[in-house]
Amino acid sequence: MLELRPTCEHCNNALPPHSLDARICSYECTFCAACVEHVLNNVCPNCGGGFVPRPISTGRLIPRLMSCFRPLLKPYRLKNGST
Ligand SMILES: [Zn+2]
Ligand SMILES: [Zn+2]
Repeated sequence: MLELRPTCEHCNNALPPHSLDARICSYECTFCAACVEHVLNNVCPNCGGGFVPRPISTGRLIPRLMSCFRPLLKPYRLKNGST
């Protein structure tokens, strides 16, 4: 499970889950795009790794998963059962 940090670790800029400016390294250190490009030169100061855009699909998945919790009752007979 990806931990979504709400702020940039360098400048404390707000990075909400749907933000396109969020960047994470392979160890999930979170920074904003401006810091990654202009301050960190795409190298994580914590672990030395590169950055990738943080996926924003995590928030969108929640409503889809919630719809699966609707009660679903479909009694059915086995086709090859005894008649
Ligand atoms: Zn920043
Ligand atoms: Zn890192």
